Amino acid sequence: MSTTPDAPRPSAVPPNPSAEPPPNNNNLNTGPQDRRPQPDPLLPTPKLRLQINDLRHPGTLSFQAQVPDIVSTLETALSTIIRILYTVPPPQQQQLQDNKPPSPSPPTPITFTPTPPPTRSVTLILRDTPGVAYTTGTELDDAHKEITLSLSYIHSTASRPAEITGVITHELVHCYQHTAPPSPSTEQGKPNDALRPPTGLIEGIADFVRLKAGLAPPHWKRPTAARERAEKWDQGYQHTAYFLAWLEDVRVGKGAVGMLNDRLLRVGYCEEGGKGDGGGGFWKGLFGVGVERLWVEYGEYLDGGGCGLDLRVGKEGERELEKVIVSSG
Ligand SMILES: [Zn+2]
Repeated sequence: MSTTPDAPRPSAVPPNPSAEPPPNNNNLNTGPQDRRPQPDPLLPTPKLRLQINDLRHPGTLSFQAQVPDIVSTLETALSTIIRILYTVPPPQQQQLQDNKPPSPSPPTPITFTPTPPPTRSVTLILRDTPGVAYTTGTELDDAHKEITLSLSYIHSTASRPAEITGVITHELVHCYQHTAPPSPSTEQGKPNDALRPPTGLIEGIADFVRLKAGLAPPHWKRPTAARERAEKWDQGYQHTAYFLAWLEDVRVGKGAVGMLNDRLLRVGYCEEGGKGDGGGGFWKGLFGVGVERLWVEYGEYLDGGGCGLDLRVGKEGERELEKVIVSSG
């Protein structure tokens, strides 16, 4: 969640439990007849728990002041995750033709069957631990998630009340994002580690949702030129989040990151030209070109002014300019 090496970061890369996925319809061969809008998934209703490990810690009071209604905060974050990662927009809303640069590849149809992970409970644990936060599955059952928040960090953000909501949103994405298809050789449908994406993509998706939720912290900075980008597309956190935002808002269309998340469940991640990718690669299979090419296009877009980036975000039904948010404090 940070650009500076010294800043603490939410660090979760959750194992991803999942039931056997439904048949894959996430590919470029899907015909127009299959582009009907998918019904929105129901909002999950996991059991929510709060565990405070140190009532005397000053971070406990800070938490109560910053997040007075934790149920509402979690439900709002969950609703945002479902809207951004598990909602297929109607075809007429998918393409932003006015903003799209000329592209040699055909438009990508956004189609998938929204399938959130079967997360059954989320426990928020406040304890005095280094760093910011992390998320894990419980030892016995990976469908039960634990988000640990650092009391010291909470206390340090007392003057920035949106920060903890942003961190919680980031961590909750880890409870509800896909990383790999379930492995047939492990118990309880645990994800196939051989098909997991780079950690930077997982963290980038979490921060992409945070960005779209209108919860980008003040120190994030969207690059305005190619030279301001991170060195690599999978640098993670805000760096990958802004790249994904360009992919969704400019290059491909609304729902692109949701489709990407869905492909992690159906197919898993494989490097271009790598073993088992069938020569297509994860990104080519989704968007017609490889990720390095997309990264170059992103840089070209930034150098061209980048004024079409549609990062208007906010609460549901409320859209604000992202640049206002990132410069707000
Ligand atoms: Zn994370």
